[in-house]
Amino acid sequence: MSIQQPKIDRVRYESFGGIVSCLQPPFLAWVDRDFMRNLGYTDSPLWSAETGDTHYLSAPTEVHVSVTNRCSQQCDGCYMDSKQDCESEQTTVEWKQHLKTLRDMGVFHVALGGGEAFEREDFGELVSYCREIGLVPNLTTNGQTIGEREVEICKKMGQVNISIDGVNSHFTINGRNGSFEKADGAIKALKKAGVQVGINCVVSMKNFPFLQEVVQYAAKKGLSEVEFLKYKPSGRGRQRYEEYSLSQEMIRQFYPILIEYSKEYKIELKIDCSFIPALVYHKPPKDELEKLAVTGCDGGNLLMSIRSNGCFTGCSFVDNGEHISGIKNKWETSGHLNDFRKLVNKAKEPCKSCEYLSICRCGCRAVVLYNNTDFFAPDPECPIVYDYNMKEDML
Ligand code: SF4
Ligand code: SF4
Repeated sequence: MSIQQPKIDRVRYESFGGIVSCLQPPFLAWVDRDFMRNLGYTDSPLWSAETGDTHYLSAPTEVHVSVTNRCSQQCDGCYMDSKQDCESEQTTVEWKQHLKTLRDMGVFHVALGGGEAFEREDFGELVSYCREIGLVPNLTTNGQTIGEREVEICKKMGQVNISIDGVNSHFTINGRNGSFEKADGAIKALKKAGVQVGINCVVSMKNFPFLQEVVQYAAKKGLSEVEFLKYKPSGRGRQRYEEYSLSQEMIRQFYPILIEYSKEYKIELKIDCSFIPALVYHKPPKDELEKLAVTGCDGGNLLMSIRSNGCFTGCSFVDNGEHISGIKNKWETSGHLNDFRKLVNKAKEPCKSCEYLSICRCGCRAVVLYNNTDFFAPDPECPIVYDYNMKEDML
């Protein structure tokens, strides 16, 4: 049996060595300086730069790009507060300029979304442009309008994830009659066209009892993954947070049930960064998490986001008013991005003494900023923080 040698697509320098991107099989690898030299790369000025606890990458590896804030679905918990109409959206020319800048900074992937990206008429043109300049486009879509045009565009994506919060009658946040059937039809059409398809499932109080059905459905359809994202108080999600956010009991049960479902249905189950406190509460071996590059709040480092109006943020779920123009400089100087990078140094108890601090990075800022004006406060949804606060209250 011959083993396929990965073909390197792009490489970028970092202070520790570099990041290597392969398209087939698709992966990013963090490699040291010797590895870079063995690949034929000469020493970089970045290798003599001082590094410290607040050190961060030379550019994000992935940027979430909300190409529009238009969406006809108007789901209750939309984290972007999407509208039927969207003013001050970036033009085709502006988006191409931003995408080119990201490429020049060394960004590898863009996660395209909205609103609903397909509501832009030029969306296919933007996706083709990503491929032309060497950015890998991935997409999250509501899957409600997937016809021939959309399938052709999706064929250019690395991965397409359809938003599904529940099957059949259990649609919750995006719960409109017939929306599951349309999403199911979209999955069939995309699979038939050979597109790599997964599901994005927002986990809330309402659909928590029905997550198994989502995993079962995804496995039956032969999908590549289900990614579970925690319901967050962001956009319209703020208005329904008290009603939809997970209880402490659910947060504590979440990781064990995922392990159970992944064994039973043999499908890749992922969690987003905001679920890391729910994972580390069960004390998995820290070195294993490090080997797997599991990371919590990594806005302003691995991640950045651009809103439909051209403003960038460390993460899609947190607001910032700075415009993306001049981002090469702003990547270094933005106070907003630098706040994300200081999370470990400025950690407060119990995060400060938590053995998983370097991985988790104090939980989710979207949750923190809903409950607190202090950007560096611990995430109150983390079970460790919750228990600590209970004890403090009793003193
Ligand atoms: S604020 Fe941090 S933890 Fe929360 S979603 Fe954004 S990057 Fe993830
Ligand atoms: S105590 Fe803080 S650092 Fe530790 S898991 Fe909870 S939020 Fe993360």
